[in-house]
Amino acid sequence: MSVAIDPVCGMEVTIAPDALTTSIEVAGLAVAGQADRHRGALDVSAPGQERFYFCGRGCLLDFQDDPSPFLDAGYQPSGM
Ligand SMILES: [Zn+2]
Repeated sequence: MSVAIDPVCGMEVTIAPDALTTSIEVAGLAVAGQADRHRGALDVSAPGQERFYFCGRGCLLDFQDDPSPFLDAGYQPSGM
């Protein structure tokens, strides 16, 4: 079974059809160290976008409100 890491809290999220997920444009974001700290899955159906999965609606809404802090290389998930 595939899992993704919730970029907000660091929990593992099972990738399922009913999983909470969002795609964001990653090209415009300054994502330092993204290559060795890759959390989302590249969305092959939408070039330049990256898909993230979330454990719950709270994390999803936090991420959608402003994804950039969670993508920063210095961000440490606090929900583990
Ligand atoms: Zn979460």
